[in-house]
Amino acid sequence: MQHTVLTGDRPTGPLHLGHYFGSLANRVRLQDRFPMYVLVADYQVITDRDLPGEIQRNITELLLDYLAVGLDPAKVTIFQHSAVPELNQLMLPFLSLVTVSELSRNPTVKDEIAHSSQKAVSGLMFTYPVHQAADILFCKGTLVPVGKDQLPHLEVTRTIARRFNERYGRVFPVPEAMLGERPLLQGLDGGKMSKSRGNAIALSATEDETAALIRKARTDSERLITYDEENRPQVANLLMIASLCLGRPPAELAAEIGYGGAAALKRLTTDAVNDFLRPIRKRRNEHGEAEVREILAEGNRRARERAVVTLDEVRVAMGF
Ligand code: ATP
Ligand code: MG
Repeated sequence: MQHTVLTGDRPTGPLHLGHYFGSLANRVRLQDRFPMYVLVADYQVITDRDLPGEIQRNITELLLDYLAVGLDPAKVTIFQHSAVPELNQLMLPFLSLVTVSELSRNPTVKDEIAHSSQKAVSGLMFTYPVHQAADILFCKGTLVPVGKDQLPHLEVTRTIARRFNERYGRVFPVPEAMLGERPLLQGLDGGKMSKSRGNAIALSATEDETAALIRKARTDSERLITYDEENRPQVANLLMIASLCLGRPPAELAAEIGYGGAAALKRLTTDAVNDFLRPIRKRRNEHGEAEVREILAEGNRRARERAVVTLDEVRVAMGF
């Protein structure tokens, strides 16, 4: 089957291991097979905070992370929300296709509200899954490599595509999510590893920073290391991180550590992460700001070209 792949990230901070095993690894694999769009979701930064913050710097860092993991701008269109007004215009008809109660039931929106730095919930936070439908459908995306937190959002996109087609005739495909090897990697505090929750191992962290982060992770006082997600979640999470980086089963690593306790577990995890990230970190240093600006200018141009066509099609289908 021929797919169009669409996915993206908010420029809210450095990408981390959760992104890698949730989505980035799939993107790198898929870029050789299908047309792919990668969105820098800059407008979505203000869903859960008052100001965009160091947005230009965060966008540059995000692009460097992409290049570091091996996304190839010759194959992938990398673009920004704010540079493609036609995409954002799709949001208006899409908003008419969902009900307020459907939006308020979304579990990911609830979770993000709980972690938001804002006292009150903005309309943008509430309608963010509809914005995402516009992101995916503007290029008629059919395959969306994402982490597990995005599944409820993708359901909203699917509903919108179906309802649009029912009301106005078939314009949109109904896209599917593609989950990564680890669809919900936990951070060093036991919650979802997130850029904005201070619990992440950034792809771009130094080896010393990585060691310090892992040293601080909570474990337990049991000397025998075992892989038990239910009863020893913190130990299991470190084993999982090491396992993903080494490509070996977590229980096997636990058996190897045996009675070495938390210190040996942390040493093994730190080495696994640093070995795994070394080539990625090296590649990151081979790119610079000017290159990133050019990649975005070209990606924005290509995405806009695509969005104009879809928006026209939507207007015609709706009879405007
Ligand atoms: P923020 O805290 O600012 O929301 P984030 O870490 O949640 O940042 P996003 O930009 O919201 O990152 O998510 C980008 C993509 O990465 C999404 O597809 C999301 O599902 C995936 N992703 C994010 N965190 C994880 C994780 N811990 N495990 C697996 N996938 C993840
Ligand atoms: Mg997020």
